[in-house]
Order: sequence, then C-alpha cells, then structure tokens
Amino acid sequence: MPARNILVINCGSSSIKFALVNEAQPDFILSGLAERLASPEAVLHWQHAGNKDSLLLQGGDHRAALAQLLPLVQSAAGGQLHGIGHRVVHGGEQFTSACLIDPLSLLAIRATAPLAPLHNPANLLGIEAALKLFPELPQVAVFDTAFHQSLPEHAFRYAVPEALYREHGVRRYGFHGTSHRFVSQRAAEMSGLAFADSSWLSAHLGNGCSTCAIVNGQSRDTSMGLTPLEGLVMGTRSGDVDPNLHGHLARTLGWSLERIDSLLNKESGLLGLSGLSNDMRSLEQARAQGHVGATLAIEVFCYRLAKSLAAMSCALPRLDGLIFTGGIGENSPLIRSKTLAYLKLFNLALDETANAACTRGAAGPIHAPGSPRVLVVPTNEERQIALDTLALLDA
Ligand code: AMP
Repeated sequence: MPARNILVINCGSSSIKFALVNEAQPDFILSGLAERLASPEAVLHWQHAGNKDSLLLQGGDHRAALAQLLPLVQSAAGGQLHGIGHRVVHGGEQFTSACLIDPLSLLAIRATAPLAPLHNPANLLGIEAALKLFPELPQVAVFDTAFHQSLPEHAFRYAVPEALYREHGVRRYGFHGTSHRFVSQRAAEMSGLAFADSSWLSAHLGNGCSTCAIVNGQSRDTSMGLTPLEGLVMGTRSGDVDPNLHGHLARTLGWSLERIDSLLNKESGLLGLSGLSNDMRSLEQARAQGHVGATLAIEVFCYRLAKSLAAMSCALPRLDGLIFTGGIGENSPLIRSKTLAYLKLFNLALDETANAACTRGAAGPIHAPGSPRVLVVPTNEERQIALDTLALLDA
C-alpha cells in the first residue's frame, strides 16, 4: 500500500492552520495558514516544496478558504488524499480518544460547546465546511482534552459542591493533550524506554503553557483545568490567581465579568507582568538590556513553572525525565536553565553546552552526566493528529 496523505485542520474563530502530512515523510508536503477570515483582509498563506505563496480571499470565510485550499491539497497530494484530521479543543468527558466524525459524534461535539465557547464553535465551522467540500473522505476529530481523561478523580475534581460537577461538568479537563502525548512517547523512544513503563514530567511552553505528569503512557495530572486559563503564566493569560480576584475587581472597581475575562485572558501573563510584550523572544532581548518588567516577567514565569512541575511530581512513582517543548521550551536555553535553578531538590543538572545548542527544532538530552534526564523534544501536533486519523481509518 502506498504511504497515505492526511490533511490536518486546526480552525480558530478567524483562522485555519493546515498541514498535509504523508505517513512516510517527516516534513509536511504542504502547510499554511488562512487568517483574518470573513474580513476584507482575509488571506491564505502556504508553503509547498520550498516555495511560499499567498492569495487574498476578499472577505472569504472558513468555507471559502477551504475551497481555495482544495485544489492546492489535491495537487500537492497527487490526487491521493485519504482523510482529514480536525483538531477539536474540548471533548468533555465524552471523548477519551479521537473519533470518526458522523452525525452522532457531531452532536456530541456541539454539546460540549458551552465548555469551550471560544474554541469549539470555531472547530465546528471547519468540520462543517470540510464535510461539505470533501463529503467522500473519512474525517476524524482529535481532542486536546482526550489524553487527560485518564486523570484520577482526586486530580480532576475541584473542591466545590459535587452538584456543580455532576450537573454542570465543572471539573479539571486539561488541554495540550495531543502535544504532551506526542512528546512523552518520543522521549521514551529517544531514551530506549517502553512508553507503557515510563514516568515523565512535560512542560509545553508556547503562547499557551501547561505541565503534565505522564505515567505508563497515561496523563495522571496536568496544570490546565476547566479552561486553558488555569496553571502557568502564559503569553497573555494570567494562569492561577486567587479565585476571589473576580469578586474583588467587581466590588472595588465595578468591573463586569467580560472585562475581567478579557483582563485575565488577553492582557495578563508575560504581557501584563512586563508591560512590554507577550513574546518570550522580545522579553529575553529586553531583559538583556536591563528592562525591569521583562526581567520580572521571566522570573515569575520560571518560578511558577518550577512550582507547577514540583506539584506534578506528586503524580509520579519515579522520574524518568523532564521534557521541554513548545516554542519557548524548544528554543530558550535561558528559560530551561532558570526553571531548573528553582527545582534544586530534584537534583537536575544541565549540560550548558548541550542546553545552548538545543534550539530550532533540535531534539536531545541536555542534562549533565549523573543527572536525571532532561530532554528537549520538538512537538508535532499535526503529525500526532494525522497518526490518530490513520489509526481510526485502519480500525
Ligand atoms: P508557540 O505558541 O509554540 O509557537 O510558541 C510561541 C512562543 O515561543 C513565543 O513566546 C515566542 O517568543 C517563543 N519563542 C520562539 N522562539 C524563541 C527563542 N528563540 N527564544 C525564546 N523564545 C522563543
């Protein structure tokens, strides 16, 4: 059987990220981004065979962008497209793994929309457009939450009255599951360990950030919760704050829920702390020039990350290794080194030459001899989604 091609689609409210993955090739055949959809500036960018190209979509929406994508995909795939994998942010408690999209699973995905009002409706837009344009192709939904459905109840319940959980689904779900699963599996391969008999801490550090404890191939705890706001300091998200902050701001400043939501999701994190930027690269440059806000933002980011990893270690029987991934985790020797400096009791030590060399997609161990493993593992959510799609086509 020739190697198969899967189109992976990740729809946001005004964007579509896509990648055409061939099961036998490490690099994407075609990849790109349609952005500012349904606005006059709507545009499609793509990369194929070393060439970059763009096309104005003139107000086009998700369906228009996918319709433009169709001939590009068919030509790049040589007419051989075997399925479509969709990233879906929230699968609630219903989805413990990826599923084939059919009328029943579509209903269930729609039913989880209240848990992710910003994300799931956008993901559904992409699924519905793709079903209309590619009706003959099998399509699969891969959920960010599914990997964390193995959390034990003592890790996923909040200490609030039980009815909120039973009747309204208020519990910790966790996100970035596709990434934590991919990198922990890769880490086991790289270390010559069986994934089914290994224990990892993983830190996915991008614009969104989360930690995860993975034991014997299963997520046992993770830092994000009911929504992707809980846990670490992120680009513009605050992560953990005192839950009374909402009431405090409402009472003392008269702020509305919408204003507070926007503050915590869009104006906080690295951006709020530094007063400068949500982008770690810019903050590292500013810190090197003595910027006080950038210096503080980086310190809080690393301390809170170390604290979260220490908390996650409660879920591990032993530590086979600590994994760094995501744009920051894969590229920032400074953040890796500062985080480990706050984890003294773990006896982790870096080989600073290996740490400095591990950037731009390089993978490898960065620990000193005698230290527990510390690995940089580039994430590849698109490939994992394609692999999950293929596994369901083969089932
Ligand atoms: P992601 O969401 O995974 O694409 O990650 C985005 C984050 O990675 C942003 O904060 C970037 O500034 C950060 N990043 C990318 N490259 C570097 C780098 N060389 N050094 C520090 N941070 C980086």
